[in-house]
Amino acid sequence: MFDELNDYRKKIREFALKEFTEDVSKKYDRNEEFPFDIAKKALSLGMIDMENPAKILIAIEEMCRVDAGLGISATLPYFGGEVLLLFGNDGQKKILNDVYQGKVMLGLGITEPSGGSDVAGLKTFAKKSGNKYILNGSKMFISNGAIADYLVVLARTSEEEKRHQGLSTFLVNTKLKGFKATKLENKLGVRATNTAEIEFNDVELSEGDLIGEEGKGFYYIMTFFNISRIYVAGQALGISEGAFDKIKSYVKTMNLADEQTMFDVADVSTRIEAAKQLTYNAASYLFKYDPKPELTSMAKAYSGETAVYSSEKAMEITGKSPDESIQRIFRNAKIMEIWEGTSEVEKLVISKQILKGD
Ligand SMILES: Cc1cc2nc3c(=O)[nH]c(=O)nc-3n(C[C@H](O)[C@H](O)[C@H](O)COP(=O)(O)OP(=O)(O)OC[C@H]3O[C@@H](n4cnc5c(N)ncnc54)[C@H](O)[C@@H]3O)c2cc1C
Repeated sequence: MFDELNDYRKKIREFALKEFTEDVSKKYDRNEEFPFDIAKKALSLGMIDMENPAKILIAIEEMCRVDAGLGISATLPYFGGEVLLLFGNDGQKKILNDVYQGKVMLGLGITEPSGGSDVAGLKTFAKKSGNKYILNGSKMFISNGAIADYLVVLARTSEEEKRHQGLSTFLVNTKLKGFKATKLENKLGVRATNTAEIEFNDVELSEGDLIGEEGKGFYYIMTFFNISRIYVAGQALGISEGAFDKIKSYVKTMNLADEQTMFDVADVSTRIEAAKQLTYNAASYLFKYDPKPELTSMAKAYSGETAVYSSEKAMEITGKSPDESIQRIFRNAKIMEIWEGTSEVEKLVISKQILKGD
């Protein structure tokens, strides 16, 4: 499934190396600016095939290998799109065509100021009133939040005894009255991505803005996480490989051959290989419509931790020659252990799934 895409991988890598030069990466990182031109260019040149998950995974990995801030930004306009693709009505799905062409930007709002791991505990409420829903509440750390045209939003629609049965997903037009986004500044990493706090103050939604069925939102989002966690594993894999590229180049240039360096090179390359096998193995099940949540969570948690480990090693090994690009990799790595489910949350999923079996 993936080997036949080697030419595509090469094309993406060439694109990223050409577009994500050190000066460009540095500029967007320092200014905390979203790279609209690069994101549009990547889409218009067909660099990112949003309709083919295997291609998206490869594009994410190769772009993040060169620069994760730009790579994630370029592959994020579609964020949340799978919820529309799998559960949306025809009108909602139509929006995806404009997303594929870079004309429309999406985002996904789940996390709230009170917490993100406990998805079923969210408080944003969409109250039914006649044939409308009135949305009130707030979301935190929402990628594309201040630049998206539409957000897929998970909100409570009833106070069911079983908390996760009272949630529903909506497609929210960010131009609606009562919608407010405030861009968050001074992030540690992935600074080219746009992250915002969102407020909904009596935002009036129509019944047509409901995605799928009322009360099924939690399940839709868990299905989405099964897909998006693979992409985060791909981001983390790319970051690890980028860190290792720096390590190899430095070790060779400086002719380092001491035992500690040799052990580090062996450890980093072994962990990257393990992360790659886990990620592509989990992806191969998912892309055949047979997801294995435990494999997906293993891939996400292990690749995330490998990104942090590899970038730390890159900092340590090249420490005598401070290089902003390596510092950027180090800062970009940390989020891999946090978004789309922290490592702790992934480990809970793994244990529950494994213990469910024989
Ligand atoms: C740059 C950035 C972009 C983001 N983009 C988005 C986005 O587009 N959309 C979106 O919805 N969210 C987004 N997030 C939010 C992200 O998904 C959450 O930060 C993440 O899910 C963790 O939630 P939290 O930060 O509220 O931490 P909490 O859930 O409050 O967790 C705090 C700590 O407690 C641990 N913990 C929590 N529950 C348990 C448990 N049961 N057992 C053991 N440990 C536990 C966690 O692992 C963590 O270490 C983004 C975050 C960042 C930083």
